[in-house]
Amino acid sequence: MRIDLHTHSRASDGTQSPDELVRAAAAAGLDVVALTDHDTAEGWAEAERAAADVGIGLVRGMEISTRHEGQSVHLLAYLPDPTYPPLAEGLTRILEGRVSRVPDVVARLNALGIEITEADVAAVSGDSAASGRPHVADALVQRGVVGDRTEAFTRFLNPGRPAYVDRYAAPLTDMIDAVAGAGGVSVIAHPWGRRSDERPDAATLEALAERGLAGIEVDHQDHAPAARERLRAIATDLGLVATGSSDHHGTGKVDHDLGCHTTPPEQLHRLLELAAAAAARSGRATPQPLLLP
Ligand code: AMP
Ligand code: ZN
Ligand code: FE
Ligand code: FE
Repeated sequence: MRIDLHTHSRASDGTQSPDELVRAAAAAGLDVVALTDHDTAEGWAEAERAAADVGIGLVRGMEISTRHEGQSVHLLAYLPDPTYPPLAEGLTRILEGRVSRVPDVVARLNALGIEITEADVAAVSGDSAASGRPHVADALVQRGVVGDRTEAFTRFLNPGRPAYVDRYAAPLTDMIDAVAGAGGVSVIAHPWGRRSDERPDAATLEALAERGLAGIEVDHQDHAPAARERLRAIATDLGLVATGSSDHHGTGKVDHDLGCHTTPPEQLHRLLELAAAAAARSGRATPQPLLLP
């Protein structure tokens, strides 16, 4: 049973449609895939049709942009009802922040002498509900300014680089509450990704577990092997679910092939049980995966 619980489609900043993504997941030998676009459930319906067609399990999810103690934290939410008002309102505010940032980023690039327009960004982001820096990066590639997304981030878009613009992210604890109220479960994505200072630390994760956090993503390309083992030990200590996933973005992110990290079936079972309990408590009808392992 091969299970990948973190992927992106063109509903956010992946390069495949939800249909293409699910078919690629089946072709890669996955039995279960979660679609976890940034801050939106827009891709779910299309992914659901494809999953039914190819006969693999789909877990409906999203990756919510949050902030905690001054730090950006990506929160994976599985099986929440996205119409639950506190969740829907949080997502709307985040998506508005994404849209309103684009003109600022374009203006900063223009100030550097780079010819790029908001229309260029809109042309590559297409029907994405969650426009992001990767779309600006793609527009820079199309303009011939950079060779790929990575170069665009390194030269212009990463924090500290000249075209970086911050945007709204929802308070982490509010979103953990909102996901639980929506009948879903929360897992912190790549908690120590691209960081060497091991924050959020074990004490913070313990407090978040008490707040209702269900798990942490342990096996992820952005974690060094030693960090994975430390996080796995913390998950065991705190009784948190430990997941592993690709964070696939189609061709938008190298070394994140579908299934490059996977989640053990017993860990998915625990997540599904916790989601069922949250759904029973909240009275929200949580959509279930198509095929249970
Ligand atoms: P944003 O959502 O606008 O804050 O942009 C963050 C997204 O950019 C995340 O999905 C990351 O996966 C992606 N990202 C960050 N750094 C890179 C990179 N060097 N190459 C490609 N994608 C990246
Ligand atoms: Zn992304
Ligand atoms: Fe992320
Ligand atoms: Fe992601």
